[in-house]
Amino acid sequence: LRDLIIIGGGPGGYSAAIRGAQRGLKVTIIEQDRLGGTCLNRGCIPTKTLLHHAHLYTSFSKSKAFGEQSISVHYEKLFEAKEEVVKKVVAGIQKILAANQVEIINGKASFINPSTISVVKSDQSRGDIRGKSVVIATGARSEVDPIIRVDGERILGTEEVLNLKTLPQSLVIIGGGRRGLEFATFFNSFGSRVTLIEKEPQILPGMDHEISIRMRAILVRQGIKLLTNTVVSNVDASGNSPVLTLLGKKGIEKIKAEKVLYPGTRKAHIENLQLEKVGIRTQDGFVSINRHFETSAKGVFAVGDAIGQQLSAHHALSTGLSLVDHLTGGEVSYNTRQIPYCVYTKPEIASIGMTQEEAERNQEILVGKFPFAGAGQAQSMMEEEGIVKFVVDKKYGEILGVHILGPQATELISLASLAMKNELTIEMLGSAIFPHPSLSEAIEEAVWDIKNEAIHSLKNW
Ligand SMILES: Cc1cc2nc3c(=O)[nH]c(=O)nc-3n(C[C@H](O)[C@H](O)[C@H](O)COP(=O)(O)OP(=O)(O)OC[C@H]3O[C@@H](n4cnc5c(N)ncnc54)[C@H](O)[C@@H]3O)c2cc1C
Repeated sequence: LRDLIIIGGGPGGYSAAIRGAQRGLKVTIIEQDRLGGTCLNRGCIPTKTLLHHAHLYTSFSKSKAFGEQSISVHYEKLFEAKEEVVKKVVAGIQKILAANQVEIINGKASFINPSTISVVKSDQSRGDIRGKSVVIATGARSEVDPIIRVDGERILGTEEVLNLKTLPQSLVIIGGGRRGLEFATFFNSFGSRVTLIEKEPQILPGMDHEISIRMRAILVRQGIKLLTNTVVSNVDASGNSPVLTLLGKKGIEKIKAEKVLYPGTRKAHIENLQLEKVGIRTQDGFVSINRHFETSAKGVFAVGDAIGQQLSAHHALSTGLSLVDHLTGGEVSYNTRQIPYCVYTKPEIASIGMTQEEAERNQEILVGKFPFAGAGQAQSMMEEEGIVKFVVDKKYGEILGVHILGPQATELISLASLAMKNELTIEMLGSAIFPHPSLSEAIEEAVWDIKNEAIHSLKNW
């Protein structure tokens, strides 16, 4: 009898496994594919490797200091570099799990009862294992769409697009969410003609409006064609180039491209688990849990993408760790309102907590803003586009939300995460000493701006 059986070896599953083992639990992971899950194999890590090279290429091409000769990209080599990184991180997680004596079973898991799991291995042999607690950490997968059918050839999902061996000359991306924007930036950097289609009025629906609007202007300046308020009503992939029928502001329009990318809507990857056998409830395609991550079946828990909330690796990781805190007698400190949301475009976007619009609906607020153009370090990096924005409660000075569009936004947001988690007030944050020159000065200045006391700022920028 194991203490903890974890179904799925992605960030949600492996973090719970390692922390569980560190605290003396006897842990088994069942993984049907490769350890590391979506994040390491076909999500965060491969996409960020590609984007890193795209950003290097853009910076190099933009700077006048490197002379006239242009650099060219060897796409095949870039593809190999991405594969190398993936191999390295997957091997790394394998070693860490082994060092922590986590048992790994390679196979497909499903429930027999809340404490007994059936495992079918790749040679079709079957066995049952039992655990005191079972964790569903099976992640999410794209839903099949009746109109936009991913065929892996001309209409691609995020997995197929990562395996493209050549750059498409033209690409239509359906959906202006995080993944859509990241792939748009990547392909546009290397010269593909990119059109991005979003059915909502703004790209990154749900993002602070001002940040979304500013990002839109930057992407258009970079050469990406953006169509918002536009619905894809048909995709005809029968010819050489797919033809899309769009319904937008201008009425019906048809466009063509060499490839179409459809990241799609993701829902919990649970269809093979036989959840109905054990009475585990779901809602809107995700596993329902209570505040201790327990499902409607006693002793069965769920973490990561399978529970929804926010589909990100850091969410998966922190839910995995918080669950082990609960199982080993600690407090769950996880807070759904404080999960950073990150977009690895150039410039990056990172956001945490309430948007200005959300906060304004509920209370009186103050806003502090600072442009990266006012930060010497951003100037020296030639990356002065973007702003830092603080949304705070007027009465108590509590930080309600922080939104950053700018260089290294995904690093800078950790400061806001730390401040919000520990309920730091703007006075506490504003009195800390930040290094000069540094990008974090833009955070400090935005905090000072809440009281109209920013230093390196003109009044009406
Ligand atoms: C293109 C792309 C880019 C992304 N970029 C980022 C990013 O930059 N930052 C970020 O934070 N997030 C990113 N994400 C999201 C991130 O990958 C996920 O949020 C994260 O991997 C979720 O972790 P998880 O452990 O819940 O699930 P997963 O990582 O999906 O792991 C679940 C595992 O469970 C296994 N499994 C499923 N069913 C069974 C079964 N029945 N039996 C055995 N095993 C099973 C699967 O094979 C899989 O390995 C990206 C996602 C995509 C698609």
